[in-house]
Amino acid sequence: MSGCEHKISGSKEKVWLPYYYEGRDRGLKPHPYCIECGLIKNLSSERPRGLGFFMNVIAELGKRHKIAQVQIRLIALEMERLSLEDKFGMDRFQQEKMFIEITARILNVPERAVIELL
Ligand SMILES: [Zn+2]
Repeated sequence: MSGCEHKISGSKEKVWLPYYYEGRDRGLKPHPYCIECGLIKNLSSERPRGLGFFMNVIAELGKRHKIAQVQIRLIALEMERLSLEDKFGMDRFQQEKMFIEITARILNVPERAVIELL
């Protein structure tokens, strides 16, 4: 999926889906989607973050917890696999939710240790 340049569907071809603001469901809204890969465009007003932001959080975690290079690599791979950096389809809330889950699991730290750095 990553690597797709995302071609947006025409105005008549939209899918009605829940719309989220600050992680809360705000009812249904028509969403454009990519006709190449099928990814639905994120309409949230909160701009998604770049991968660099999350790598900085991991570096910060590394000052407080013992982190091996291989774990950092695993997190990066997992973020890539889930297209976390795909700004077309992700909003910040979704990104953070995934990042917290991945990082806490791979580093074996409590989720709040990650949350407090976001
Ligand atoms: Zn696409």
